[in-house]
Amino acid sequence: MATQSLTLQPSGHKMPLLGFGTWKVSKDTTADVVLKAIEAGYRLLDCACDYGNEVQVGQGIKMAIEKGIVTREELFITSKLWNTYHHKEHVPLAFARTLKDLGLEYIDLYLIHFPISLKYVPFEERYPPEWGNMEQDPVPIHETWAAMEDLVRSGKVRDIGVSNFSAVLLMDVLSYAKVKPAVLHIEVHPYLNNSQLIKFAQSKGLQITGYSNFGPASYVELGSSEAQNAVPLFKEERLSKIAAHHNKTVAQVILRWLVQNKVAVIPKSSDPVRVAQNADIFSFELSEKEMETINGMNIPLRLNDPAGYANIPIYA
Ligand code: NAD
Repeated sequence: MATQSLTLQPSGHKMPLLGFGTWKVSKDTTADVVLKAIEAGYRLLDCACDYGNEVQVGQGIKMAIEKGIVTREELFITSKLWNTYHHKEHVPLAFARTLKDLGLEYIDLYLIHFPISLKYVPFEERYPPEWGNMEQDPVPIHETWAAMEDLVRSGKVRDIGVSNFSAVLLMDVLSYAKVKPAVLHIEVHPYLNNSQLIKFAQSKGLQITGYSNFGPASYVELGSSEAQNAVPLFKEERLSKIAAHHNKTVAQVILRWLVQNKVAVIPKSSDPVRVAQNADIFSFELSEKEMETINGMNIPLRLNDPAGYANIPIYA
C-alpha cells in the first residue's frame, strides 16, 4: 500500500498521512491490534501515556519488527506528554517512562497533549494519572516547551508539537520557540472542520493531524449526549451519497476528505475489516464539489472538550 506523507519542519522528516489511533484499545488486545495494523500497512502509531497501553503498543511493535514486517526506521511513533508532567523537571521523566514502556530508542513525534497543567502525580502513586482530582498547577507553556526542545537536543525525539492548542496559544509558542512545533494535533471531522485554525497553523509551517475523524462514533460509547444526539456520520445522507458514487464507505470518504485537505488521519478500530478499509484511501479522489459539500457540513460540533469532563474550558 502506497502511503503518502507530509514533510515536517524544521526537521525535514516525513510523517505518514495515514496513521492508527490507540486510544481506548483495551490492554489485553492492544499488542495484537497493533501488530495487525502494521501488517495491514499502517506505519504511524498514535500513542499517549494517557491511553494506558503503551507497554502493549510496544509489544505489538516488537512483534512486527521481529516478524520482519517493518524496521523501526519505517515506523513513525507519536506519543504525548500528559497534563501532570508540565514542570520542566517532570518532562524528561514522563518522556523516559513512555520510551521505556514502548521499548524504543527514540520517538518520532512528542506532543504536549493539552494546554492544561495539573498537579504532579508520582508514577508509583498512579500511572497513567488520567484527570485524577483535576487539581490545577499552572506552568507557563514556555517552560514546558523549553523542556520539550531539550528532548529533541537529546536525540531521543525527532520532532515536537502540540495538541488541543488554539491559534492564540500557537502564536505564543511560535514567539519563543527555538525548535518550532512541527505538528498541531486537533479534533477534525465533518461536523468540526476547524478550517480557520488549520489554515493558520499551515501558514506557519505546521502540519496537521486530525483526531476523532469519525466524529460522534468515538464519543457515543463514552456517554456523551452531544454525540448521542448527533446524526451518526456513517448515516449522514450527503456523505452516504458521495460514498455510493465512489463505491466506497462513508468512513473512507471522510478520511479521503481529510488527506485531500493535507490533514493526516489516525482512525482507530480493532475490527480487521475496518482497519483494512480505513487504510484504503489513496485509490480514489473526491471532486472539488464533493470536497465543498463536506467542508459545508461544519456545525461546529466539538466532542472532545475538557470543559465538559474536567470543567476546564480551554476553548471558552
Ligand atoms: P475515531 O474517529 O477513529 O473513531 C473510532 C470509532 O469509529 C470506533 O467506535 C470504531 O469502532 C469506529 N470505526 C472505525 N473505523 C470504522 C469504519 N470503517 N466503519 C465504521 N466504524 C468505524 O476515534 P478516536 O479513537 O477518538 O480518534 C482516533 C485517534 O485519535 C485515537 O485513537 C487517538 O489516538 C487520537 N486522539 C487524540 C486526542 C488528543 O487529545 N490528542 C483525542 C482523541 C483521540
